[in-house]
Amino acid sequence: MSKIILLVIVFAAALWLVRGLRRRSEAKSGERAEKTPPQGAEDMVRCAQCGVHLPRGESIMAGQEFFCSARHQHDFRRSR
Ligand SMILES: [Zn+2]
Repeated sequence: MSKIILLVIVFAAALWLVRGLRRRSEAKSGERAEKTPPQGAEDMVRCAQCGVHLPRGESIMAGQEFFCSARHQHDFRRSR
């Protein structure tokens, strides 16, 4: 009888250990997910002059058009 009780205790301990490890690994993966920057957070825009794609934050906006550089903004205006 004591063997069965011991077996149950060992089984319960093993189960508790596995659950603890799983929870710990889940917490780690959650941390990793937070650290990685979200994909496509910033819009990509196209330079109206040369057609190169760049993040909106790095572009020069003029009316409805986006440009990769002030030079291309100038060239685009001149070509119109
Ligand atoms: Zn350009």
